[in-house]
Amino acid sequence: MSGTELKGPTRDRYAVIGHPVSHSRSPQIHREFAEQTGRSIEYGLLPADPDAFVASVATFRAAGGKGLNVTVPFKEEAAALADHLSERAGIAGAANTLSFRADGIHADNTDGAGLVNDLTRRWHQALPGAVVLLVGAGGAARGVLHPLLTAGVSEIWIANRTIARAPQLVDLVSHEGESPAAVHAVALEPEALTDLQSKRQAESSRLIIINATAAGLAGQTLPVPVALMKSAQLCYDMVYANEPTAFMRQAAQAGCANVVDGLGMLVEQAAESFAIWQAVRPETEPVFQHLRSSNSG
Ligand code: NAP
Repeated sequence: MSGTELKGPTRDRYAVIGHPVSHSRSPQIHREFAEQTGRSIEYGLLPADPDAFVASVATFRAAGGKGLNVTVPFKEEAAALADHLSERAGIAGAANTLSFRADGIHADNTDGAGLVNDLTRRWHQALPGAVVLLVGAGGAARGVLHPLLTAGVSEIWIANRTIARAPQLVDLVSHEGESPAAVHAVALEPEALTDLQSKRQAESSRLIIINATAAGLAGQTLPVPVALMKSAQLCYDMVYANEPTAFMRQAAQAGCANVVDGLGMLVEQAAESFAIWQAVRPETEPVFQHLRSSNSG
């Protein structure tokens, strides 16, 4: 036998980095996208200690990695690490997609596009003219604010447990000046939100309530008035689970007719990342249906 080994074609290597990351569905989603589009990729989990993000990225890249998805708690560090930042990642100050190219690290944020695609394509929501109550002011809320504005929502009300963080999000988009929507901070308290309800009723506007908090992870509900939830055309939880989440149960009990979780957002944001890396857009619906049926099985 000669010393020359026959090797198969090299596969592009990706992973999702986070802490924790073990429950991520991203490897399954990207494997299905790769199969569907005939691409040969490897996609794994990259757990990293909270203080070891930069070193973990460097090691993965040095070993030939082509890109990373980034999840809690590293999205802001990912944006700071980039040599080239997309406009939407720059506005959010957070990135969930890194691409390692010859000219450096490119960072993007596909969370917002994922949410908008899920709302409009899967759940048939007309965003132009809608009013959004966005509950939460963490990394996920930062990422979706600008894309919601770009999609034409007429107003966004940001309500957060730590009140001081909501105005910081308003500042993120206020430099746009020509913003098509009015963005306001509101206390996450029943009284303040009842005022929003009165204003909205007076204007007969369509309301979408989006939960971008981690409250449900501890089974906690949110102090959103029943009447406000009941009047919403959609109550959307960014969190996804096998069973209806605490927020979904709260909204359904309040009488909201349309209540969904964030599994579709997860698949849509992954499709955006895949398209950035592989220059081909996968079909999301078969993957969404597959995940949904394997979730409920
Ligand atoms: P984060 O940066 O840690 O922010 C957490 C947010 O939740 C903050 O606004 C925090 O309020 C709020 N919060 C936590 N516990 C609360 C409670 N008991 N009551 C009220 N508010 C509470 O996290 P993130 O990155 O924004 O993620 C938020 C959620 O969205 C996570 O559950 C994540 O899994 C989900 N997510 C889903 C997708 C998807 O594709 N479906 C994408 C991104 C994120 P304070 O400021 O007061 O602490």
